[in-house]
Amino acid sequence: MGKRYFCDYCDRSFQDNLHNRKKHLNGVQHLRAKRAWYDLFRDAAAILQEEQSKKPCRKFLQTGQCDFGSNCRFSHMTEQDLEKLSAQVQVRKTALVQVLELLMKSQGSSRKPRAPVPTVLEHLQ
Ligand SMILES: [Zn+2]
Ligand SMILES: [Zn+2]
Repeated sequence: MGKRYFCDYCDRSFQDNLHNRKKHLNGVQHLRAKRAWYDLFRDAAAILQEEQSKKPCRKFLQTGQCDFGSNCRFSHMTEQDLEKLSAQVQVRKTALVQVLELLMKSQGSSRKPRAPVPTVLEHLQ
């Protein structure tokens, strides 16, 4: 029985050889799984950071309407919205850290982490 390659992003394994590995790592399914893994954290954090850097849109907050819509350079988020988003980021961060801890624990076993752990951790700072 040959070696098996385990892909943490896709949560599946296959016979480890150059051909299989290349095929898998360039596969649509794998790329999608990898992106989803990062999106778990990135989306909410990016939105929060962007909104926090903007000044509140007075017109929107007073009237509930703004002609610029999502193109407005001011934030349409109320303090409550931001709080909610911030809580969401926190939850995702916790979930991601748990995943990372699991990956690190699995180091040394046959299930080697494929995720670039230090890179992901940098994002969390
Ligand atoms: Zn994969
Ligand atoms: Zn506006």
